[in-house]
Amino acid sequence: MYKYIFGPVPSRRLGMSLGVDMVPKKVCSLNCVYCEVGQTTLLTTQRNEYVPKREIIEELKDFFANHPDPDYITFSGYGEPTLNIALGEVIAYLKKEKPGVPVAVLTNGTLFSDPAVRQSLLQADLVLPSLDAATTEVFQKINRPSGMLDLEKYLEGLADFRKEFTGKIWLEVFILPGFNDSIPQLDGLKKAILKIHPDAVQLNTLDRPGTEPGLRSATRKELESIKDYWDIQGVEIISSSTTRKNTTAYREDIRDAILETINRRPCTLDDISRITGLHVNEINKYLDTLEETGDILTERQERGLFYIPANRNEK
Ligand code: SF4
Repeated sequence: MYKYIFGPVPSRRLGMSLGVDMVPKKVCSLNCVYCEVGQTTLLTTQRNEYVPKREIIEELKDFFANHPDPDYITFSGYGEPTLNIALGEVIAYLKKEKPGVPVAVLTNGTLFSDPAVRQSLLQADLVLPSLDAATTEVFQKINRPSGMLDLEKYLEGLADFRKEFTGKIWLEVFILPGFNDSIPQLDGLKKAILKIHPDAVQLNTLDRPGTEPGLRSATRKELESIKDYWDIQGVEIISSSTTRKNTTAYREDIRDAILETINRRPCTLDDISRITGLHVNEINKYLDTLEETGDILTERQERGLFYIPANRNEK
């Protein structure tokens, strides 16, 4: 069992994707209300070698020696990967060892105002930053940022990165009804998108309740009308709750292990991760499918969001 890499995980956007986690749970510069990983416990903009580069590279070497190449290698996981100061070196290692495997980085983009952060990403093939707010008030409400962050600098950093990066940028915008879907917010987001000039804009929404109660997903119709209102090239709706596709690359044994765990007793995401030893990002992909097939349901309790078997009451 690896500590810092996980999967390959079937991903709707990237095929079979090997995940690399550069920070421990849960180090991030944001504490988004919708975060599926849970509350940020170290809210920081301080870059550090939170996870030792040497150990990550050892795990990657072992993986490559014993497995076929994945479709993608994706930096994602428990928090913000650009907070790890060694990110650029790990990407450089991958591009040297596995030049044929594309590298993607899922990031909140908040540190892009730092030229060293932008530099560390230049060898990646695809960068997927996120942007949910066009005003400081909404930024505070949705993303609950570190006090060191400033929305204007965040937007400028994203625009500067576009000028320097020759790979693809897919900007993810997470729509939370009641937070960032008013006309002034949508106008502000459109202005920011046009300035950042990404290759694609991916509209997402909640797949399941986030860290905070009282949030709801945007409906397919709402996302479609935002797309129409913006009228920008390259906007696509990626929310799995509204565009779920069959995932062909799927491990039945992992699905069964997760389902068995939930069948034994209701569990939070963290419980499932502790019991199965699987990474939460990997578990999340399978929970998506189990919810879609009607095998499990969610229930909010005091300790958080619990996954329960759909047939519990029939037992
Ligand atoms: S940026 Fe990503 S990891 Fe950090 S709190 Fe937001 S959703 Fe979670």
